[in-house]
Amino acid sequence: MKRFLLVLATLLAAALSLPAAAPAADPIDELLPVRGLAIQAPQRSQMNDFLKFVEGELVPAHFNLLILRVDWGYAYASHPELQDPDPLTREDVQRIVAVCRNRGIRLVPQINLLGHQSWAKQTHALLREYPQFDENPSVKTENYTDWPNPEGLYCKSYCPLHPDVHKVVFDVVDELCDAFETDAFHAGMDEVFYLGEKECPRCNGRDKAELFAGEVTLIRNHLAEKGRQLMIWGDRLLDGRTTGLGEWEASYNYTWRAIDLIPKDVFICDWHYERADLTGVYFATKGLPVASCGYRNPTVCEQQIRDMVRFRKQSSPETAARLQGYIHTIWSGFGPFLRRYNEVKNEKEPDEAHWNDAQALRTVIETFTNLAQ
Ligand SMILES: [Zn+2]
Repeated sequence: MKRFLLVLATLLAAALSLPAAAPAADPIDELLPVRGLAIQAPQRSQMNDFLKFVEGELVPAHFNLLILRVDWGYAYASHPELQDPDPLTREDVQRIVAVCRNRGIRLVPQINLLGHQSWAKQTHALLREYPQFDENPSVKTENYTDWPNPEGLYCKSYCPLHPDVHKVVFDVVDELCDAFETDAFHAGMDEVFYLGEKECPRCNGRDKAELFAGEVTLIRNHLAEKGRQLMIWGDRLLDGRTTGLGEWEASYNYTWRAIDLIPKDVFICDWHYERADLTGVYFATKGLPVASCGYRNPTVCEQQIRDMVRFRKQSSPETAARLQGYIHTIWSGFGPFLRRYNEVKNEKEPDEAHWNDAQALRTVIETFTNLAQ
């Protein structure tokens, strides 16, 4: 009888012309599903070099995620006042989209939201054009002095409760996501030092964890309307004092309870650059999808990748599914990075030896390649 049923099923399948089984997935997809690079978007003049880098270096090494920091470097039609000089055009972005789509790379644009609205003495486009969105306008970026400084100025923040800020922000987020034809957006949201400031008439006295979680949730819900996922850096969700991780890599300003207040589909990019700290497990057991992120210490980066593979193997299927992979980060412009990278590849000492980001990416490429064998 069983044999008869099997024959019948085979005949039926043939009659219905069922599609052949999908080809087996790349073995590395099981070990480390997300293999990413987060880097500044290229300048227009670097487009050819950038696409060559993607095709020649990332594709053979099994990268499947590219997070591009665009910020104000795009020719926004919805808000031309917010673009920096010589921005990427829609046509430039389409070239990147085409390469990534052909090569199976998920492409995710980034604009820093909430924090990182200035750097040293430079105020970035949003607060330059809309100073009314500033969380604490009494602090002037032009008076910036090196950290630490009396005003605690690292980067400015916008006020998450300003009634007009999201109209502007969501215009550019939507336009960028449309241009990138993407199903995800990275909002940064790291190192937010100014939040719930005394001088803000809307935020003063409010719970900072609730303010942070409220902003994450608002952005997440906006993206979800178009089926897009939110990615953020994880540092504001970690308790800096208890963990000893410090006030950049984790939070000293009481935002960490937000980990229990945000939607569980927000993707956490868990960055640690000095040690392979094990907080990926913390995020995953809180129900959040997470990838470890490394930077310029090759040994630490390799350890983060190996740890992620090991965590996945020794976790329950539910937790393993959230421990998604590794994303390498580069924090200089693409041009200077590529120069260092090519020097390392050609076995020359990079000209800025204290920056080992190029060597670290070489190590990541080697580690991915070994995992794929
Ligand atoms: Zn405020």
